[in-house]
Amino acid sequence: MSLTDHELAIRSIQYRRDMLRWIVHAGAGHTGGGLSCMDILNVLYNRILRVSPETFTSPDRDRYIQSKGHCVEALYVVLADRGFFSSEKLQTMCGYDSAFVGHPTRAVPGIEHNTGALGHGLSVGVGAAIAGKKDQRDFRVYVLMGDGELAEGSNWEAAMSASHYKLDNLIAIVDHNTLQITGRTRDVCSNEPLDEKFKAFGWDVHTVNGHDFGQLTAALIPSTHTGKPRVVIANTIKGQGVSFMQDVAKWHHGVPSEAEYAIALRDLADAEAQLGQSKGAVQ
Ligand SMILES: [Mg+2]
Repeated sequence: MSLTDHELAIRSIQYRRDMLRWIVHAGAGHTGGGLSCMDILNVLYNRILRVSPETFTSPDRDRYIQSKGHCVEALYVVLADRGFFSSEKLQTMCGYDSAFVGHPTRAVPGIEHNTGALGHGLSVGVGAAIAGKKDQRDFRVYVLMGDGELAEGSNWEAAMSASHYKLDNLIAIVDHNTLQITGRTRDVCSNEPLDEKFKAFGWDVHTVNGHDFGQLTAALIPSTHTGKPRVVIANTIKGQGVSFMQDVAKWHHGVPSEAEYAIALRDLADAEAQLGQSKGAVQ
């Protein structure tokens, strides 16, 4: 664990700036949800996951499956930063014949599984975790889900299976921003109380501030041999970091105008300044 919380905070600002840049460049993208899960991805790829471009084909690598696949732009910028591919490849994002489409595919280095049809990632994670147990390997499987996505019944079949098979090598993370494409999750199809639901399904439940690097780190390192899968309910803000996008459902998907983009960059620069960094230090 080499990066401090302060360094991670600076990196998150850079990631948010990069993500917006590529979404503006492509003319498409899931802005709000990408911003809400960015700190989770930052902690995963800079502190938790035992995977790198060199070890990505190793059977012992940790697996990360992004079930909320529509927020792939956030994943792209983090994978680029971790060296899985050059960030310049994102010039082609959403373009004809590009591998960098609007949902994760295995054509992109570092992506474990194609996702985007919601409600499937946890089942894939259960399968990978069972394989790890059978092969007696100690890798962990991480699955990131949206809270709106939990309305898909397949998640709860997977949750039952994970508990039944005692998959303590499986860690699910819920990006609990309380919004989905059409509004408040509690109004569309309430999944509350989420913690009690997962407990009833036999899971080890941890609720954290999804923008707090220390809390995320502590929750994402599982205890061994508990016999229970873990879920980390990460309370987040959709659109985190950009003033006019925060907690606004319409930014589920959307490209900022030139004027809006300028405001977003200013917001991020202000946050950077508050961290005591010079504005030119993060590009
Ligand atoms: Mg949501």
